[in-house]
Amino acid sequence: MARALRAGEITSVALTQAHLDRIASVDADVHAFLFVDIQGALAQAAATDAKRAAGERLSPLAGVPLALKDVMTQKGVPTTAGSKILEGWRPPYDSTVVANLRANDIVIMGKTNMDEFAMGSSTENSAFGPTHNPWDLSRIPGGSGGGSSAALAAFEAPLAIGTDTGGSIRQPAAVTGTVGVKPTYGAVSRFGLIAFSSSLDQAGPCARNVLDAALLHEAIAGYDARDSTSINAPVPQVVTAAKSGDVKGLKIGVVKELNGDGYQSGVRTRFEESLELLAKAGAEIIEVSAPNFEYALAAYYLIAPSECSSNLARFDAMRYGLRVGDSEGASAESVMKLTREAGFGREVKRRIILGTYALSSGYYDAYYGSAQKVRTLITQDFDKAFQKCDVMVSPTCPTTAFTIGEKSDDPIAMYLNDIATIPVNMAGIGGMSLPAGLAPEDGLPVGFQIMAPAMADERMYLVGAALEAALLTKWGAPLLSKIPELSGR
Ligand code: GLN
Repeated sequence: MARALRAGEITSVALTQAHLDRIASVDADVHAFLFVDIQGALAQAAATDAKRAAGERLSPLAGVPLALKDVMTQKGVPTTAGSKILEGWRPPYDSTVVANLRANDIVIMGKTNMDEFAMGSSTENSAFGPTHNPWDLSRIPGGSGGGSSAALAAFEAPLAIGTDTGGSIRQPAAVTGTVGVKPTYGAVSRFGLIAFSSSLDQAGPCARNVLDAALLHEAIAGYDARDSTSINAPVPQVVTAAKSGDVKGLKIGVVKELNGDGYQSGVRTRFEESLELLAKAGAEIIEVSAPNFEYALAAYYLIAPSECSSNLARFDAMRYGLRVGDSEGASAESVMKLTREAGFGREVKRRIILGTYALSSGYYDAYYGSAQKVRTLITQDFDKAFQKCDVMVSPTCPTTAFTIGEKSDDPIAMYLNDIATIPVNMAGIGGMSLPAGLAPEDGLPVGFQIMAPAMADERMYLVGAALEAALLTKWGAPLLSKIPELSGR
């Protein structure tokens, strides 16, 4: 698309309109979007076309449309983070990610559906109803960023933004047959990202192939003084890596603990096959062990709720969105209580309660303190393993997309989806998921995860590009070579 725009074969207005038309025709079934900014998108597209016509030098993705996860503020555009408590709120400022997208003339078409405040693995926790997986509308598109990944798989958008606290970019990518990257913590600014768990949250690119993800990665990454954890170093050359895909002599460590009996057989088949392809491409495959990964999930479900209980205290009915019970003589406390009771969903309340408990005096050391120690042990596991290999790999998820409703009453079953993605967030390193084919038993997409040391994000793109090229040769076409039929329409 970017090439056609540069060659003058198509305008950004026409390209954007084509995607808006696609959204109009399929999104009633997919429900990837919470808000479509038709006027804003077409205005941005027209402005980009005008710049191009005037001969301005434009960025590589200029004029290409994108879908934005509804957890990112965009000035004047409704931003809910999937929650009723923010319904109707229009942020007075742009997040840095949005500012960077605008600076690159990437056209923002609208806001995508997500689990409330990014808590979930299926997008069923959205206050505005679930998103449906374009491969099979009765199934979940993953979460929390299910809207962004479903928009890509349904060809409603060629690019999207996600955020990943414990897997919310990679797990949706895996179950929709798309690519998702969680960059090194601090690579992309969190300014304007509505906080869930600040020490884990990271925004990243979602796309239909590795090179597209790399182009978007370079557009959104970079130092930002408004995020105190932003990395003040040059953005890694991920586009160069994605174009090279040369893995000769590279050491790939298969994580022993993330490849066991708990994984669906078709997931394991595709994973093993991908390892063979990478070996054929010249990489050396070794096994590495990370004994403390076993505790990652438990520690995550103390750290993330603890941070969320603090972050979500700001939704107090005084400054944003919803306000309930504001009658003559009502106390501020009762308004806060009634608003939070009405505005937050079940999972968010569960996490606030868990986190408040874990942080309470007398329990702080036993829960939060211990979880932080586990976090250090996980980081040390990665450090040790990365002395033996350049990247680590695993299946992204234990299973393919499950059915809507299947796990919604069982929080632990839901949490277990992220067993392979959470260690990356705990250590603050980078992780990518890319499609490894379809599981033979159900015909649904399987994700392959690549993990790279902090500030070595380019390695994920190197290996991802190599595997993608090998799979393309094998299949003869990309996984998403034709528009899904959207069964049920
Ligand atoms: N599924 C995980 C959770 O519910 C991760 C979510 C995320 O990455 N935002 O917390």
